[in-house]
Amino acid sequence: MNNTAFDMPVEALFPTEAERSRLIAMLAAELENTRDQICGGRVTPALDCKRFKAELSRFTFTSPVNLEELLNWTVQQLRDGIVQMTHPRYFGLFNPAPGFPSILADYIAATFNPQLAAAKTSPAAIAIENHVISQVAHRASLPAGSAGHFTNGGSEANFTALICALTKISVSFRDIGARAFRTPPAVYVSREAHQAWFKIAHQAGIGRLAIRVIETDGEGRMSDAALAEAVRADIANGAIPVMIVATAGTTAAGMIDPLRACAKIAESAGAWYHIDAAWGGAAIASEQLRPLLAGIELADSVTIDAHKWFATTMGCGMFITSQPWILKEAFGITASFMPAGQDIPDPYTTSMLWSRRFLGLRLFLNLATAGWPGYAQHIERTLALTDLLRTQLSEQGWVVVNPAALGVLCVLPPFPHRPVHEITAAIIASGEAWVAVTNFEGRDVIRICITNGQTDQVDIATLIELLKRHSVIQTASDNHLKSGEEPLYSRQH
Ligand SMILES: *Cc1c(COP(=O)(O)O)cnc(C)c1O
Repeated sequence: MNNTAFDMPVEALFPTEAERSRLIAMLAAELENTRDQICGGRVTPALDCKRFKAELSRFTFTSPVNLEELLNWTVQQLRDGIVQMTHPRYFGLFNPAPGFPSILADYIAATFNPQLAAAKTSPAAIAIENHVISQVAHRASLPAGSAGHFTNGGSEANFTALICALTKISVSFRDIGARAFRTPPAVYVSREAHQAWFKIAHQAGIGRLAIRVIETDGEGRMSDAALAEAVRADIANGAIPVMIVATAGTTAAGMIDPLRACAKIAESAGAWYHIDAAWGGAAIASEQLRPLLAGIELADSVTIDAHKWFATTMGCGMFITSQPWILKEAFGITASFMPAGQDIPDPYTTSMLWSRRFLGLRLFLNLATAGWPGYAQHIERTLALTDLLRTQLSEQGWVVVNPAALGVLCVLPPFPHRPVHEITAAIIASGEAWVAVTNFEGRDVIRICITNGQTDQVDIATLIELLKRHSVIQTASDNHLKSGEEPLYSRQH
């Protein structure tokens, strides 16, 4: 072998210190500049897909390209090629503008690249994560000793809950899977619960039909009477109620299921009680809003996403349980090649993942920088803007169909109006804002959620103008005018 082969590291992958510093400064400046452009530009991309695919197909990776040019190219493609979740008029699906400390957390985690599978290799990182989880558990009024871990998101945390519930009901689930149950296991969610529960039941091996979809009370909350009846009927038919899931902050409408009533039903059925508070869980930060989550302290486990209202970078969820011993039962394993654990349990033996990224640093830095008071302000500010929007739309004859105490509005314009999917499509096409269509209690509605901590009154006023303008039934002449439409406001930053 040629002995120069090991002379130098590959410079493209491991540039010199001077070159690294230069590129980092360049990238930081470029990203800040782009951030300004995003806030003053379109929420929805103006990507020419054909041009983009042609450019992308030139990357055949047969020869190296210049990193500086590549970074600039990449930033440009993201500027033009994604819905801008960090835009103050993205009124979307819980995806936040991330808090700045959490962005820096990603950089730190990437630089050290710690492996959080085993406690012995990353004791400081794992201790930080465990500390944050236990502080969040405490804030949520879960019993002392509650523990858990960071996940890639709410779905992974919810999946973890189901594995725990199945293992608790029958520890042989771990060894023989669903055959551990002589009669079919059943999991209860409301009609408004997250659709991922069906996938989770499939992945857990109990099948999608194990999910019992419970009726709501007509206002988006699980009907506890319907839940009690479904559980009773299942028990009478020999099925096993494994887990009851209450949602605290439904995805479509931000509604909170009756947490205490569900807890009671779970207890009398001997079922695991899980609360999916992926988005709404952030209300624990606010003294004013915490009472809305009363009953959360009764849960066997809770899902809270940091990458939603807690505004960390994606994906960052949390699974927290008041019965952490079950994690070892469900996920315990030994591997000869892994460094043996010490006092802290090894995350690879208490969770679904093996290799783990240092996700918890994002919430640690955000939470430590803002403190609970800062997060309370962030949450309450969102609600104040939501109230402003609700009041102003109501004054103008719009109907807010969901009685949500949290920050999602499902609205309908005064009659007569265009179909809501047309209104939403027109707003999105304008590039001025992003809102969704959703179905709430059988009706298609426009769903609006303030997800960006920098959205302000001017953005709300712009949104109201857009909603009004695009809900009016179009005449032929309106359509004629449409192509030359100017943006309503341009935003100065
Ligand atoms: C977002 C959400 C989920 C899914 O979480 P991901 O982080 O997207 O995996 C589950 N349940 C609720 C209530 C949610 O809002």
